[in-house]
Amino acid sequence: MIVQTISGQASTDKAETGRTFAGVGVSPGRIIGSILLMPKAVREPAVGERLAEGTAPEDASAALRTAAKAVQTNLTARSAGASGAGREVLEATALMANDPMLVKAAVKLITNGASAERAIWDAAASVAEMLHNLGGYMAERATDVLDVRGRIVAELRGVPAPGIPYSDTPFILVGEDLAPADTATLDPAKVLALVTSSGGPQSHTAIIARALGLPAVVAAAGVEGLHDGTLVFVDGAAGTILVNPGADEVALAKAWETTTAALAMFDGTGRLKDGHLVPLLSNVGGAKDAVKAAAAGAQGVGLLRTEFCFLERDTEPTIAEQVEAYRGVFDAFPGKKVVVRTLDAGADKPLPFLTDASEPNPALGVRGYRTDFTSPGVLERQLQAIAQAADGTEAQVWVMAPMISTAEEAEHFAGLCTAAGLTTPGVMVEVPSAALTAASILEHVDFVSLGTNDLTQYAMAADRQLGPLADLNTPWQPAVLQLIRLTVAGSRDEGHGKPVGVCGEAAADPALAVVLVGLGVSTLSMTARALSAVAAVLASVTLPEAQQLAALALTAHSATDARRIVREKLPILNTLGL
Ligand code: PEP
Ligand code: MG
Repeated sequence: MIVQTISGQASTDKAETGRTFAGVGVSPGRIIGSILLMPKAVREPAVGERLAEGTAPEDASAALRTAAKAVQTNLTARSAGASGAGREVLEATALMANDPMLVKAAVKLITNGASAERAIWDAAASVAEMLHNLGGYMAERATDVLDVRGRIVAELRGVPAPGIPYSDTPFILVGEDLAPADTATLDPAKVLALVTSSGGPQSHTAIIARALGLPAVVAAAGVEGLHDGTLVFVDGAAGTILVNPGADEVALAKAWETTTAALAMFDGTGRLKDGHLVPLLSNVGGAKDAVKAAAAGAQGVGLLRTEFCFLERDTEPTIAEQVEAYRGVFDAFPGKKVVVRTLDAGADKPLPFLTDASEPNPALGVRGYRTDFTSPGVLERQLQAIAQAADGTEAQVWVMAPMISTAEEAEHFAGLCTAAGLTTPGVMVEVPSAALTAASILEHVDFVSLGTNDLTQYAMAADRQLGPLADLNTPWQPAVLQLIRLTVAGSRDEGHGKPVGVCGEAAADPALAVVLVGLGVSTLSMTARALSAVAAVLASVTLPEAQQLAALALTAHSATDARRIVREKLPILNTLGL
């Protein structure tokens, strides 16, 4: 589908024709479609807000019941059209929308004089707290209550419901940024592309877009000023959005369709033009992803983000629960390498049972491996679970810890792995200190994996979630490339030539993948969707050519120059529209 319009939406403003917004392209693809804006978060009704003069409590209660029912009907209808995790989320939320206990508690507050909006707000807060205190499965339903609360208030106010907007026809989603929770209901059959005014190349929006194979541009300031229904052309490689595109853009969008068809398959062996092998692995968040990655030809798993299996949990998962989650991934890759990362809780991925929500600076706080300082025992139990899950499967199980800063930490982690019976310990290099001391770290562990998302944010001191810092927050920064070079040098000089992989988003950028290989990285791990594009571009260069491109990027004056110089020397990118 090349051109999409949304029937019934506001017509495109002709005066805006040709207006261009520049952002950062984070997922390639060229598409034309009508936009829908992500509604703003629902504003909390004033504390103590009372019923308006002359409004009878019975009428306000009836309005509340009608609103709750309408929200339920809408969510039920949407769940019927959804599948997988999205369907489950919608079904659970639909049930909660008209929950008798919730509605009854709100009606009681209205009878005491509260406005309908304030009443549902407070009633939902009490129900959420009660569920939270019950723990386990019930505690996980607390977020559903808070979600429906916003929807019911929006219904009462007659404004759009929060979250991903709904439309019968496909659209380009425009918003400030996407929260991880929004993604469960993002239907890739309806959303053609993602455009946000905030967020950086390593933000959740970017990671999700690449995982779903959707063209995406982040940090495009001003896009939120466009109106629903505006027709735009999105170029996810160039990072631009053009209002009311013309014949040239229609041709580019058509050409992109041909490219996606050509790139549909990866033959399962990553190699350069001269035959130099570069195993291409996949980043997964659980068994479902792993099955998809295996089907896409991934040569193994380079990063299992175990925290993704338990993001909704208030309490530590039991060993049995963990064994089940990990075994599903191992079973998808018999005979292949699966690198399990221990829980990376904290910062943008808080886990209530491990992290302290009140930390002033969570990205620099107790996150990743560091949670072992404050919650001893959780890491050991996780390693036990990984060992149990590995037992009896055919996968080659490697384990690594996130957010390692010193060789001492690597040594401690390796000791815990040995105690658990896990034979191939490694660590992530995501903190500059780890890159600089890679040789000492590799005295204790068998491999390192560069987490370029965090390595970039820490090297550049730029929060990976902030749109205004997107230009700093790119792994094309020569300083980041130098840290990667030093990590490889540490492995070659004194690190006994132990493997250095990349599992950050940098590996999914086909041009940067060439640079990484030129710098001496041995494996690349990425979202399954990126495998075929990365494989195609790698296959267009020899190792000496990749090394030359790496040298050019390292000595470039800026990230923009590094990217431009390398891209100019890779004509295949233009041919394929990547
Ligand atoms: C990284 O930091 O590059 C990485 C792979 O870890 P995450 O994105 O999960 O923080
Ligand atoms: Mg990281």
